[in-house]
Amino acid sequence: MNRLMNTYPEPAVTFVRGEGSYLWDEEGRRYLDFLSGIAVTSLGHAHPEVADAICGAARSLLHTSNLFGTLPQREVAATLDRLVGGGGRVFFANSGAEANECAIKLARKWAGHGRYVVVSAYGSFHGRTLATLHATGQPAKHEAFQPLPEGFRHVAWADVEALERALSPEVAAVLLEPVQGEGGVWPAPPGYLEAVRRLCDERGVLLMVDEVQTGLGRTGRWFGFQHHGVRPDVVSMAKALGNGVPIGACWAREEVASAFVPGDHATTFGGQPLAASAARATLAVMEREEVPARAESRGRYLAGRLAGLARVGQVRGQGLLLGAELEGVDARQVAKDCLAAGLVLNAVTPTTLRLAPSLLVSEEEVDEAVGALAAVLGEER
Ligand SMILES: *Cc1c(COP(=O)(O)O)cnc(C)c1O
Repeated sequence: MNRLMNTYPEPAVTFVRGEGSYLWDEEGRRYLDFLSGIAVTSLGHAHPEVADAICGAARSLLHTSNLFGTLPQREVAATLDRLVGGGGRVFFANSGAEANECAIKLARKWAGHGRYVVVSAYGSFHGRTLATLHATGQPAKHEAFQPLPEGFRHVAWADVEALERALSPEVAAVLLEPVQGEGGVWPAPPGYLEAVRRLCDERGVLLMVDEVQTGLGRTGRWFGFQHHGVRPDVVSMAKALGNGVPIGACWAREEVASAFVPGDHATTFGGQPLAASAARATLAVMEREEVPARAESRGRYLAGRLAGLARVGQVRGQGLLLGAELEGVDARQVAKDCLAAGLVLNAVTPTTLRLAPSLLVSEEEVDEAVGALAAVLGEER
């Protein structure tokens, strides 16, 4: 019997191997992966340089605890600071939820004086720990786990006036995704983040962006906020950072980061040499291959091909984080049928397919994926 807790539906497929944009199951069947472990394997599966980095760490130094310095961790922090825009510091965690936990604790420590509330948006997703679950603006996910930690408030997505009304004196920070990923692939509309930044400045509130899904090239820039000409105070990231090795990071500008002093926050594993070596190699390949530019051009191509399908209505998103709104068909059934046809993607809502292929995906692979989706939708291509 399956001894796993019943938190995920019974899997339809068991994968045993991956390479680039492809996966293979137990029977040796090949699948084209247009989900990338939910925007994690941005360089594709089994990338040789990341694999070498993992092996190298395994053969030299896997772990020391954060009581001691290690080189990969310091280098990754410097690279992330540069990519975010400079002038900050990084705390390493093991996941997106942990990166956001760090952001929330940092905001409370920085603000003080009874200011502790974090305002986030309905439809958002920030993680599954008790605090990040409360930050997640999906009340249905909260129900069974009440009472959740205090200090969270939700406002309508992309509604500046609603946010303004929510900014009472207890508010320490606003936490937003530049593109709501789990909520259905909804990019922040033009002008929204700029207006939020202005409000935050007026009220002395931190602007924290959750780049766990959007960060590291996925949207066509290094970070999603960089489409909007704003500078956030705090940036959380995770998913793609280790190309599959678990690692999260919370960046904050210097003055905010300096609210933490030794003893305020810690983790056994966060940023240890194995994870940081994988991240260092991932970032090196990402920079060399200029993945933001690739995501931009391949994303444009993929969006155009999807828009050409009769059953696809709106195509939303940025770069290679796309949502395809289906008309007259159940997205969940379409995702199942795609899997059976050898194409991996997921239904992020009952009507929306999410596509997040490797940022190194080729045009031929895009054509292959769109062809498979067209066949599932009963359209000849
Ligand atoms: C996936 C995700 C998280 C949670 O990350 P975990 O590693 O699963 O804890 C948080 N925020 C966003 C925007 C995400 O997409």
